Amino acid sequence: MVAIIDGRALARSLSDDTARAVAAFRDRHAVVPCLAVVLVGEDAASTVYVARKVAETARVGMISVEHRLDAGTSQPDLLALIAALNADPQVHGILVQLPLPPQIDPGRVLDAIDPAKDVDGFHPVNVGRLSTGTGGLVPCTPLGCLELLDTVIADYRGLDAVVIGKSNIVGKPVAMMLLERECTVTVTHIATRGLADIVRSADIVVAAAGSPRLVRGAWIKPGAVVIDVGITRVVDADGRARLVGDVAFDEIGHARAATPVPGGVGPMTIACLLANTVRAAHLSLAAPHG
Ligand code: NAD
Repeated sequence: MVAIIDGRALARSLSDDTARAVAAFRDRHAVVPCLAVVLVGEDAASTVYVARKVAETARVGMISVEHRLDAGTSQPDLLALIAALNADPQVHGILVQLPLPPQIDPGRVLDAIDPAKDVDGFHPVNVGRLSTGTGGLVPCTPLGCLELLDTVIADYRGLDAVVIGKSNIVGKPVAMMLLERECTVTVTHIATRGLADIVRSADIVVAAAGSPRLVRGAWIKPGAVVIDVGITRVVDADGRARLVGDVAFDEIGHARAATPVPGGVGPMTIACLLANTVRAAHLSLAAPHG
């Protein structure tokens, strides 16, 4: 019988740890960790995500400053805001909510964020640090995946891991983190041939394709651990919307442990963002700005 890895409970516990770390940082340094959140335009999903992130920062005792910019904001104006936030010693983390409007190149914006304040872990310096195993800030969803895996796996050395999806925000960083733990990692993607057979060999499966029920029960080796990152909103015949993962969860009773959708990876992302902001606050002490 598959054990359910409860992302909601783990996220709560991680956020409680973060709240204690925020209080300790405040007491020790007389500074409250602060996250600046930048939202350009009024994309409905982004507005919901930003509201959630801001509410959670308050819950753990952090400060958050929201910068809501008009959808027509120019790239130079956004870059000027990033420069000001980089230079502000009271801001420890900077998050620019994606997607950005078409007149703005997201690469230019992410590159402009001070790597020490890059709580999303998307800056090339942090990507390089992750791939060389030399610290840095790690993207939140992959960090959440590893935290979830850590609850059921004590020793990763030599395990076969298959990552489905090679995006910069999930697949590649997850693969790097598993490689760092000395798993033998196979990264697969839309052009991979024989995906089912590759997955069949895996002790760890991380599915991040965004393809509902792509991974079937027959693909999963008995005793494997399965992390389902995929979230797709589907509308049932009766018109009701629900979130569906990349894994046919009802078919994987022979797995050792697995995350559900919803309630698995999803809640971990914001919890890891908060943890990264505290890390960034500590980094600011090592390399003060302003
Ligand atoms: P993406 O579209 O950038 O990348 C998807 C990757 O999956 C690509 O590399 C593609 O080649 C691969 N892929 C797609 N279909 C495939 C198939 N049929 N077989 C094999 N590989 C396939 O997506 P992303 O941003 O990495 O997100 C992936 C999923 O994870 C989405 O469902 C997204 O909503 C979800 N997600 C969840 C969280 C969270 O829980 N907080 C965060 C980020 C992404």
